[in-house]
Amino acid sequence: MDYKYVVIGGGIAGVTCAETLSLLEPDSKILLVTASKLIKAVSNYQKVSRTLEMFDVEEKDKSFIETECNNVTVIHKTVLEVDSIDHVIRMCDGTSIRYGLLCICTGGKPKIIAEGNPYVLGIRDTESVQTFQKRLKKARRIVVVGNGGIATELVYEIEGSEVIWAIKDKSITSTFMDPGAATFCLPQLNETKMSTDKPLKRRKYTEEGADENVDRNSSTPGGSALGPDWSSHLEMKGAEQISHKVHVEYKVEVSRILTHEEYTTCEKSALNPSQFSSSDCWPVYVELNNGVIYGCDFVVSATGVIPNTYPFRKNNFDIAEDGGIKVNDKMQTSVKDIYAAGDVCNASWEHASHWLQMRLWSQARQMGAYAAKCMVSQSNNEDIPMDFCFEMFAHVTKFFNYKVIILGKFNAQGLGSDHELLLRVTKGEEYVKAVLQDGRLQGAVLIGETDLEETFENLILNQTDLSPFKDNLLDPNIDIEDFFD
Ligand code: FAD
Repeated sequence: MDYKYVVIGGGIAGVTCAETLSLLEPDSKILLVTASKLIKAVSNYQKVSRTLEMFDVEEKDKSFIETECNNVTVIHKTVLEVDSIDHVIRMCDGTSIRYGLLCICTGGKPKIIAEGNPYVLGIRDTESVQTFQKRLKKARRIVVVGNGGIATELVYEIEGSEVIWAIKDKSITSTFMDPGAATFCLPQLNETKMSTDKPLKRRKYTEEGADENVDRNSSTPGGSALGPDWSSHLEMKGAEQISHKVHVEYKVEVSRILTHEEYTTCEKSALNPSQFSSSDCWPVYVELNNGVIYGCDFVVSATGVIPNTYPFRKNNFDIAEDGGIKVNDKMQTSVKDIYAAGDVCNASWEHASHWLQMRLWSQARQMGAYAAKCMVSQSNNEDIPMDFCFEMFAHVTKFFNYKVIILGKFNAQGLGSDHELLLRVTKGEEYVKAVLQDGRLQGAVLIGETDLEETFENLILNQTDLSPFKDNLLDPNIDIEDFFD
């Protein structure tokens, strides 16, 4: 079977790529191959500003995209390998398909500490979340390892179980926040959670009958990564009648995981943080590199993702240090006629001054759409400019029940030491950080309902000289929106 365009992966990147190809070339044959039974569909897309966007993610049957885009065929199979010479992909059932242009959108898989240990769980897809929920119901205490978005959301949402949060940095949520913002959010960690009876803004994920045949070892792909608000509608309740009880262990890594038997012979004693239960009988123990041992019911490893490049190990792709397939500014890999987008790729072009790659749903969607445009332009022998979304990094999310917006070089990434930070903090309400260099805004962190996003976005994009107004930039009595209009 021959297809002009083949896309591998039914996550946000792959589905967006196939949909965009269909929109641009409604008469060409397009194939989407995915190992997951359900595909991820983006809905309720809203452009919040020039670079900020919000959308919902729904899991849908493959027929959804086939109905919406009648030149797209979806097959539920796992790709085993790609023969880039003959332009053929081979599937695990022995079938093969010829492609004209191929886009790899196989996402990532969780980087799990002590992989294979039955007491250590990773979180990536709906199935892994369901396993986590089941185990949590019986848990009195868990250890969460990792300091990114997933760990943060878990630690905040879990109730009814003590949580030891082991992070390698000196402040929480370091992937998205600087230590100041982390200090601002910290009181929320042990606050009793307010029950929200508000209707959910986003649809629930409903992967019914996840593929039981999928063996979750390192070489087999699972479902797609979860998306926005994945945690807020899920019941994350442990066995105890407690709200939040979180102890953060800073600047540590896990040295080893001990079974109960190993612990009893290791001649060390486990610690119980003050106000935590004093039990010393746990099914598993975690030893940290500061020598401290904690007992728990199980461990959640939320320590990032590794790009899922296993099926392409025999191809000569240039691979970046983070394990991603390198793509250029046209989303092309180093292998002819093969593109890549989403979590699996590494954006190896020279980035615009205020853009950086983070493996997020927004970038998966943007890369999928842009890869499709580049594929069509290659087949039409045209050149297209880089999409505007790669001009500036922008992300909106929710942590600790606060709206969080991060823009540009929000953590002064790559700016050297001659940058300035301007801060405005109202305890429990808002945290505003502006990163300036040479009097120009380079990035910002906006926590709470600050209403500053559009103005700050423009200031970063236009590189307005703020030197004369610097002292007033964050003055709450000045409406800077009017000021710069
Ligand atoms: P994926 O969604 O991983 O999709 C990969 C697809 O490829 C899957 O369909 C898979 O089945 C398929 N596949 C893999 N191998 C093969 C093969 N050999 N053959 C055929 N098909 C294959 N981002 C945010 O912006 N905000 C958040 O709040 C947020 N929360 C997250 C919470 C969790 C728990 C996780 C895990 C991620 C979160 N992310 C979040 C990140 C975001 O979900 C990902 O960046 C994004 O979904 C990646 O999309 P993707 O299409 O590149 O990959």
